[in-house]
Amino acid sequence: MKPRIGLFGGTFDPVHSGHVSIAHSFITSGKIDELWVLLTPYPPHKTEKDHAPYTMRLKMLQQAFTGVDRLKILTIENELPKPSYTVKTIKFLKEKNPDFDFPYFCMGEDSLASFHKWRLHEEIIEEVELLVAERPGANHSEVKEYILDKTLFVEHVPFDVSSTMVKEIMGDGEVPSHLVPDEVLGIIEEEALYKQKK
Ligand code: ATP
Repeated sequence: MKPRIGLFGGTFDPVHSGHVSIAHSFITSGKIDELWVLLTPYPPHKTEKDHAPYTMRLKMLQQAFTGVDRLKILTIENELPKPSYTVKTIKFLKEKNPDFDFPYFCMGEDSLASFHKWRLHEEIIEEVELLVAERPGANHSEVKEYILDKTLFVEHVPFDVSSTMVKEIMGDGEVPSHLVPDEVLGIIEEEALYKQKK
C-alpha cells in the first residue's frame, strides 16, 4: 500500500500551539501515514507591511515542528504560480509523487465552515476529502451536504488560539507564552516581528 499523505496548508503568521496540536491529531488519527505542511504565500498585492515574510514564517514553522515524526514542511506553493490555488497544488503533488496517495486535505473547523468560498472548492473535493479538527468558536452547522459527504472529523481536544490573537497580544507588548512554542517566540523576539499593533 502506498503511504497516505495528509496535506495541511496555512499562512502560519505565526505558527502557534493550536497548529501544533491539530497536526498531532491528524498524524495520530490513523487516517494518514504522513502530514505534509504547505506554507502558503500571501497574494502578491499584500505588502510585507501586512504580514511576516515567507522566509520568517518558514523559519518559525520549521522550529515549531522540529523532531515531529511523519511530518514535513513544503514550500511548493511559493514556487508554483501565484496566487496559490489549492487544487493546483494538490494536482501537482499527486503528479510529482506517484508513489504516494493523497486522500485528505487537513484543516480546522473554521476553514470547513468557509470552505464553500474557496476558489475551485468543488474541484478540491474531487481530488481529496477533508480531514477536520474541531476549533473553538467555529460552527459548521451551515456546511452543505455535498461538502459534509466528503468530510471526516478527527478526534481532537480543541485549543482556543489563532495567529490573529497572538499578534494582538504581541501588539499590546505582552508575550503569549501559553499560545506559541518557546522556540517560535525566540524567533519572533530575535527578528522583532509583530511589533506593530494590528
Ligand atoms: P488567522 O488568525 O490569521 O486567521 P489561523 O490561526 O487561523 O490564522 P492559519 O495559518 O490561517 O492560522 O491556519 C491554518 C490552518 O489551521 C487552517 O485550516 C485553520 O483552520 C487551522 N487552525 C488554526 N488554528 C486552529 C485552532 N486553534 N484549532 C483548529 N484549527 C486551527
